Amino acid sequence: ERIKHLYSKLLGRAGDQLEALYTTVCHHCGGPADTRFTVTSDRYRCQQCRHSFLAEDVVTRKTKKSCPRCLERLPHRRTREGQMPVEISARCRGKCPAGLFRRRYDDPNPAAKAAFYQFDLPLATNPGRKAPDYWFPTNRFPSGLKSAELFKRGIFGVHQLFSPRNLHALAKLRTGIDSFEGNDRDVLLLIFTGALMSLSLKAQHLENGGGYLPAMYYVPPVRKERNPAY
Ligand SMILES: [Zn+2]
Ligand SMILES: [Zn+2]
Repeated sequence: ERIKHLYSKLLGRAGDQLEALYTTVCHHCGGPADTRFTVTSDRYRCQQCRHSFLAEDVVTRKTKKSCPRCLERLPHRRTREGQMPVEISARCRGKCPAGLFRRRYDDPNPAAKAAFYQFDLPLATNPGRKAPDYWFPTNRFPSGLKSAELFKRGIFGVHQLFSPRNLHALAKLRTGIDSFEGNDRDVLLLIFTGALMSLSLKAQHLENGGGYLPAMYYVPPVRKERNPAY
């Protein structure tokens, strides 16, 4: 309870700037809504039929993964061709029936689909976003067996384990923690450290929860970018 109180105090100090990073628009009432998480999927190209598809659409039978169009079996090492936010979960701030909702890039509801492209996609990918104004670590991963997977993804420093948006938010929160003193500061640092992995690119998106493989530097093909305020 005290921890909860401390954390909301920290969020309060981090202020509107943090909130704005995750504020979208409810397609039901047109009012503001808070993004709880964004699901991003890697994109692949089939070497057989040249079809470009999302990792979330890969056909899986037992342990075999195939191209969704021609069903050609995919090689273990798949060639990535970018990524794309595919779905969000948000909560409308108003007293509207939408409440807690999800919407997708291919949503069957036209209003939800339109809002995804108009608001969620630009919010998640904001190409104009600069590096955070606050300090964040940029330590490099040592080369070795375990880091090879990351290097192939172009991830060389710890900061690259986070989406630009979450890096922004976390740098702001980390700076906010320093405005606390003594025990409060220690407690907040502990929570912060404990939450880091679930706020990184390592957060796997699974219906029914999610998780990550703690001992490995593995970035799952379909991942969840959580809003640290949730
Ligand atoms: Zn609403
Ligand atoms: Zn194919």
